Amino acid sequence: AKDTKTGVAVYDPAMQVEDGSRLLLLGDLRRALDSTDQLTLHYQPKIRLNDGQVSGAEALVRWQHPTRGAIPPAEFIPVAETTGLISRLTLYVLRAALGQVRTWLDDGLTLPVAVNVSPRCLLDAGLVGHVVALLREFDVPASLLRLEVTESAVMANPATATATLTELHELGVRLSIDDYGTGYSSMAYLKRLPVDELKVDRTFVLHMDADHDDAVLVRGAIELGHNLGMTVVAEGVEGIAHVAALQALGCDIAQGYHYARPMPAADLSRWISDQRP
Ligand code: C2E
Ligand code: CA
Ligand code: CA
Ligand code: CA
Repeated sequence: AKDTKTGVAVYDPAMQVEDGSRLLLLGDLRRALDSTDQLTLHYQPKIRLNDGQVSGAEALVRWQHPTRGAIPPAEFIPVAETTGLISRLTLYVLRAALGQVRTWLDDGLTLPVAVNVSPRCLLDAGLVGHVVALLREFDVPASLLRLEVTESAVMANPATATATLTELHELGVRLSIDDYGTGYSSMAYLKRLPVDELKVDRTFVLHMDADHDDAVLVRGAIELGHNLGMTVVAEGVEGIAHVAALQALGCDIAQGYHYARPMPAADLSRWISDQRP
């Protein structure tokens, strides 16, 4: 697509057709994966609501394009997901995240890190092997790695997804259902999955104080998660009112701008030591 004013090509994630902007993005992303300085990870802390302690961090990819500047993941992840490039990106993120966990361990900080895994990667026969190899390479305990998958990723191919998740679980890797409430849920599958964490989508948390339906959904998700023996995380916690409401509902963990935005690894370790008296 071309910007009508400047005539400059822009990426349009909504574009499904095999057109110039999509190919341009894929080419640029391929180069970014080969370069060493365009893709980095930011980390956002997850806070335990009962004692305020940091329980872990979510790794979120950042792309600094050489000419276009920062491109948000919501723009390039969906395009990468339409091709095999998402598998390369996922491996890139896994490697960077586990390398960071190792660096933190060497610095005396034991911090579990969560990595987002796209639906397509969940069906990738190589995923489990790559995870095993990377855990070994960085000598990181499997329990410090968490993988976040969406319900729709599982439901797209329940048998394969369940088999992959079960293998990962048997290795000791932790698993979360991400964006809970946005996909179509199947209680039957949720029950069968070796998942120990449910992350309530931020759109519901954001409006839980104003929108009755959202409040009901958040309450229901917390109950469901607890009934299935899971830890429940609220995403998109932006204000103190959210914190109070979530605590009243018995939510276990919160993540959001109220506590901290995603930030570079060095900033997070500083942030964590500043939290500790
Ligand atoms: P997500 O997995 O649901 O990640 C949470 C998103 O919410 C992040 O956006 C985070 O910056 C944002 N967020 C956190 N707290 C708040 C808050 O209080 N308010 C609001 N409004 N937003 C908040 P981000 O980093 O732009 O990522 C967007 C999505 O892109 C992610 O959603 C995830 O689906 C995808 N993504 C990001 N990094 C990766 C990655 O490394 N691999 C894959 N496969 N997907 C990724
Ligand atoms: Ca996530
Ligand atoms: Ca999410
Ligand atoms: Ca999301």
